[in-house]
Amino acid sequence: MNTDEVIQIKEKSFSFTDTVAAVGGIDVSFCYQCGKCATGCPLVHEMDLTPTQLIHAVQLGLKDTVYNSKTMWLCASCLTCSTRCPQKVDIAEVMDTVKILIQREKKKATVPSVLKFSKSFIDNLKLFGRLYELGMIAELKLRTLNFTQDLAMGIKMLKKHKFNLFPGISGSREVRKILSQVRKQEKA
Ligand code: SF4
Ligand code: SF4
Repeated sequence: MNTDEVIQIKEKSFSFTDTVAAVGGIDVSFCYQCGKCATGCPLVHEMDLTPTQLIHAVQLGLKDTVYNSKTMWLCASCLTCSTRCPQKVDIAEVMDTVKILIQREKKKATVPSVLKFSKSFIDNLKLFGRLYELGMIAELKLRTLNFTQDLAMGIKMLKKHKFNLFPGISGSREVRKILSQVRKQEKA
């Protein structure tokens, strides 16, 4: 831990730790820093803070350190860390909670492309009730204004019929109902 972070600890507000507990329902105080979450994470090599370090920062109330990290945006929600934790700390849920808080507070995502992808994915589900890949890609391209990235691969996949040309309808009503219930619960 560097000097800046030691200073931050002095200025820390534990309200961030409490907020993570209230919003995500996770008590990070059970973590005793064994490191099992980080050693099992398939994406740890891409992260600036390992999952263990991120949990430690949340324990210490280092909100800025957490918000400025790329870790939660790179997390693939594979749940390996949560499964391995001997203290049953749901690390993946902490990652999601931090992302929710960042958006609620209208702070910038450190990896904006991941947020744009998530928004395109959710919008697509809301609209079609199930994933319509071409629609999601179209929205993602509009959000990123990067129209040529992966174009060659997309054409190849289209030729191999990996995408449906039109949105499917089977089960879409039920999924829309679930999403609407989730929205109601979120508002409540
Ligand atoms: S596995 Fe659990 S107890 Fe160990 S460092 Fe990670 S969160 Fe903490
Ligand atoms: S859920 Fe995220 S942090 Fe946990 S092991 Fe998977 S990628 Fe890593």
